[in-house]
Amino acid sequence: MTDSEAWPRSAAAFAEAVKLMPGGVNSPVRAFKSVGLTPPFIQRGEGAYLYDIDGHKYIDYVSSWGPLILGHRHPEVVDALEKTLREMGTSFGAPTELENELAREITTAMPAVEMVRLVNSGTEATMSALRLARGYTGREKVVKFAGCYHGHADYFLIQAGSGALTFGIPNSPGVPATVAANTIVAPYNDLAAVEDIFQKAGEEIAAVIVEPVAGNMGCVPPLTGFLAGLRTITKEYGSLLIFDEVMTGFRVAFGGAQALYGIRPDLTCLGKIIGGGLPVGAYGGRREIMERVAPSGPIYQAGTLSGNPLAVSAGLATLKVLKKPGTYERLESLSARLEKGLKEAAAEAGVPVTFNRVGAMFTTFFNPGPVTDYATATASDTRAFAAFFRAMLRQGIYLAPSQFEAAFMSLAHREDDIDCTIAAAREAFKGIA
Ligand code: PLP
Repeated sequence: MTDSEAWPRSAAAFAEAVKLMPGGVNSPVRAFKSVGLTPPFIQRGEGAYLYDIDGHKYIDYVSSWGPLILGHRHPEVVDALEKTLREMGTSFGAPTELENELAREITTAMPAVEMVRLVNSGTEATMSALRLARGYTGREKVVKFAGCYHGHADYFLIQAGSGALTFGIPNSPGVPATVAANTIVAPYNDLAAVEDIFQKAGEEIAAVIVEPVAGNMGCVPPLTGFLAGLRTITKEYGSLLIFDEVMTGFRVAFGGAQALYGIRPDLTCLGKIIGGGLPVGAYGGRREIMERVAPSGPIYQAGTLSGNPLAVSAGLATLKVLKKPGTYERLESLSARLEKGLKEAAAEAGVPVTFNRVGAMFTTFFNPGPVTDYATATASDTRAFAAFFRAMLRQGIYLAPSQFEAAFMSLAHREDDIDCTIAAAREAFKGIA
């Protein structure tokens, strides 16, 4: 069946969208280009399910790219939003007690975050954290890892040149060469490469920024000692260690990857879950560094809608549910059930896959593995992935439309959703074996 037969209303909506918006979307991966489809247009979400305008129902593993750890329209989030809207309003550009409450929740959950500033997106969080790191250290260079994504600011849109430790090259036209020259790209999980970079340029490096569990080349966990090694090296050279926990914060553990692995970064970036599905971001860290942010210090960063009461209410309601006993155990058991079933289904069909998972965040790589960095992730068979993706979508399983993204389990998923997903995968793997 072609797209327009299975999704006639979506196909028509997309045909209109491409005339109105670049690629028909407001964020590139939504276009489904790499899997050879056009996207279903969403009508609504409920719990673990998405419904499209063509009448299809899907089990959702995208979860709006991570924020919806409680599923769609969780009653406590809906109640909080309604209450704030009715009793408060949409935005004031002035302080509210809600902001204190969210700041208190974050700083309590993450002891390394002694003070926090709320912003409106993960991109804003990382760009502000880097400005702060540069202002604080008086240095300009930043080390990032190939395959890690930290939002779309110029100095992060850099990828590695042939895996070597080279000074960055822009991979998006529009990124000035002078900006790119200050970004040094290292292979993920390669401490020796980082040591080498620091031996050459350590005194010039303001910060190392890392996804402590990478999610943006697919899910790639840190190898034992990698994060601790980054902590040691940055400390030795007086550089800051920035954990980009936009994806992992409150997902891999309530206290994020820093709690899971027991590492104390200088700065932490957050987003996604702390806004419960509304636009949000945050950056925070050591008090003496955060006090350099305006107006207590000279490093400027501001936002009309920052600390927005609706986003903060949705975030607070989400964290309140997550704090209940047993939530992370539940996420783990659902995710482990899926892992076991998918691995068995792939093995039965004779399809070589590597399943990387940290808690409720995971990727099935079409690659015998191990997948530990950008080079091994990009060695995956993207054509097999695309075929798998299409077969899953047609059976009502909504995955991220790219091999290089993580999937997310939510508390709304049930065992029978997982079993349905495994049954669908068994068929999908058969089709590509
Ligand atoms: N950092 C990480 C680790 C992310 O996964 C993302 C988005 O997916 C961002 C930063 C950027 O966040 P946003 O899309 O909210 O700007």
